[in-house]
Amino acid sequence: MGRIDIDEYRCKGCGICTIACPKKLITLCDKLNNQGYSPAEARCQEHCTGCALCAEICPDVAITVFR
Ligand code: SF4
Ligand code: SF4
Repeated sequence: MGRIDIDEYRCKGCGICTIACPKKLITLCDKLNNQGYSPAEARCQEHCTGCALCAEICPDVAITVFR
């Protein structure tokens, strides 16, 4: 089991993590962050495996994985 934290202020809303997550737990928000991007958010984290694929692929190092 795992859990992730997404730093919405670092996120540029590229959406790569939404594709990378094998459980499809990450989506982009409707709201904008202070840089004007729609940041990623994770839902249903009880299904997170802690695989860290999302964190490894994020170009802005915005995702921290806890196992
Ligand atoms: S750690 Fe793995 S399962 Fe959890 S949100 Fe990231 S990619 Fe998805
Ligand atoms: S990969 Fe990183 S920068 Fe891109 S949407 Fe996900 S958290 Fe944001």
